Amino acid sequence: MAGLSVENLTVRYGAVTAVRGVSFDVADGSVLGLVGESGSGKSTVARALVGLTPSAGTMRINGADLSSRQARRRVQLVFQDSRSSLDPRFTVEQCVMEGLVGFRRRDASARVAELLDLVSLDPAIARSRPGNLSGGQRQRVAIARALAARPDVLIADEVTASLDVSVQAVVLNLLRRLRAKLGLTMVFISHNLAVVQYMCDELAVMFNGRIVEFGPADEVIEQAEHPYTRSLLAAIPEMGQRRLLSESAVEASTVTDPPPSGGCAYRLRCPIGPAADPEREICRTLEPAATAGRVHRAACHFARERDESIVPRA
Ligand code: ADP
Ligand code: MG
Repeated sequence: MAGLSVENLTVRYGAVTAVRGVSFDVADGSVLGLVGESGSGKSTVARALVGLTPSAGTMRINGADLSSRQARRRVQLVFQDSRSSLDPRFTVEQCVMEGLVGFRRRDASARVAELLDLVSLDPAIARSRPGNLSGGQRQRVAIARALAARPDVLIADEVTASLDVSVQAVVLNLLRRLRAKLGLTMVFISHNLAVVQYMCDELAVMFNGRIVEFGPADEVIEQAEHPYTRSLLAAIPEMGQRRLLSESAVEASTVTDPPPSGGCAYRLRCPIGPAADPEREICRTLEPAATAGRVHRAACHFARERDESIVPRA
């Protein structure tokens, strides 16, 4: 049974449809990576999962519907900027305690100390305020607070994006350790494909509010089928060396097109679509659906065609 199951999730902000009928399953104890350029809808999926934004569709954990408030606690979100998510007036202890339920005051302090230890922080840090911590320490406090609620699913939204590369590795390794130790199911969001490959079992690539490619992480990266995924890979020349990179490469490639109505939303930028080959009329008229029944699938009419010019060197 899927740890987390999302079906036909749609989120609108007024006239803007930020997420369009997104469906995915994350097996219990595994990590799904969600990648895509800025504005593709990743954070909106995260916010919908924790009930921070109204949405249509179904979300389940181990088969149980996520619509009640109590059930929502089973999904916890950590995001990029813990400077704004941790109240600066609180001590670290108070910040982490916010996540606890059903503890008496004395037990709560002991539990906070345990949680800080779990994220490799010195429990003495409990009396500090978030403003006096480094970015990496603050992110660990935010992770401890999320774990305080004993979630089944942890959503990490660009958790390392504002950290130095060396600190990024520390936080990523911590998440990997926690996942193994606690058996967490995770949705790991990043626009950095190198980071995602390091963290994830499966990978979903988002473009314009939809998942355009899905599959085992290594397969999606090594045998990308959607031209959009391939363009993301091509934007990271160091990818072949499996290095953790600064976030700038992909961010710089970001272009925001108005989504064309009908047909494939990627066609204006697509290097193998009608902009390159006018005979590919189908891209203008029919919205591509992902190939059903395949583990690795891409929503592109010409998905399996390789365009060697944009495939990154291994
Ligand atoms: P990502 O996390 O992939 O960068 P987001 O989920 O933040 O993408 O945004 C998806 C789309 O929704 C973007 O077009 C963004 O401008 C829009 N959007 C996000 N939040 C809001 C909001 N609160 N109100 C209106 N539009 C929003
Ligand atoms: Mg985001």
